[in-house]
Amino acid sequence: MRRLCFTVDLDRDVNDAVAGSSAAVSLDRGDGNAPRFSSCAEGTEVLIDLLDEMGIRATFFCEATALRRSGMGRVISGHEIGFHGLDHEDFTGARTGIRMDQGAMREAVERGICMIRDDAGASPRGFRSPYMDPDEGMLDFLPEYGFTYDSSRYAYVSPDTDAYLLGNGLAEVPAVKGRDAGGKTVTSYLWPMHEGLRRPEDFVGLGEAVEDGTFVLATHTWHMVESRSGGRMSQERAESNLADVREVLAGLLDAGFRPMTVSEALEGRVLRSR
Ligand SMILES: [Zn+2]
Repeated sequence: MRRLCFTVDLDRDVNDAVAGSSAAVSLDRGDGNAPRFSSCAEGTEVLIDLLDEMGIRATFFCEATALRRSGMGRVISGHEIGFHGLDHEDFTGARTGIRMDQGAMREAVERGICMIRDDAGASPRGFRSPYMDPDEGMLDFLPEYGFTYDSSRYAYVSPDTDAYLLGNGLAEVPAVKGRDAGGKTVTSYLWPMHEGLRRPEDFVGLGEAVEDGTFVLATHTWHMVESRSGGRMSQERAESNLADVREVLAGLLDAGFRPMTVSEALEGRVLRSR
């Protein structure tokens, strides 16, 4: 079976790591780098309308603060809810120079779960680390808080790319990486398409390399209305950006992919470890 998991990172606008702070900032557009949430809110509404139109249930990995500040908890409550940090932390410290200890990571998880449950009405069962850079110690303790899967890693695409079991019982449901027709690396994050650097067929082609397995497609809420390189999109640009996302999803459905949430993709299956 071809399973398609459309996953959305709901996080602060154009987030960036800075030295000296575990929490992320928003890219400075001339007014400083305090976190902003307006593109996150607008982009979420755009995506929810598209998903409703196409009858797709997605998985939203929520940064708890962005969920609260954007006011999108009720809006996404029909979809699967995952966790993407309390303040979009750099948990490993690779970017900020601040390595969070276990106590600080547990506090972020506990506070984040409470906020997400209050806002979206469900406790997260899945985790995606900010920057796709999970801390191993954190993955080890996540099952204690009811988590059943992680989606913070890439797997090189193959005909049977799928979820697998981590040592602690969590399922790993990786995003996908491969090469395009020209031999360049392409991942299942739509980021370069939103920036005008790739076309929908690049991502449909990557998905089609999965013949029997799970294709995890990923994007960010804010990227529906704001690009990193170009700032806020014009109405025309936002519409063509939306049309591109629709084209990717439609192309994968045409290829026989069945859309489902990550939990649905894992349900009732015995996974292999690797
Ligand atoms: Zn993020």
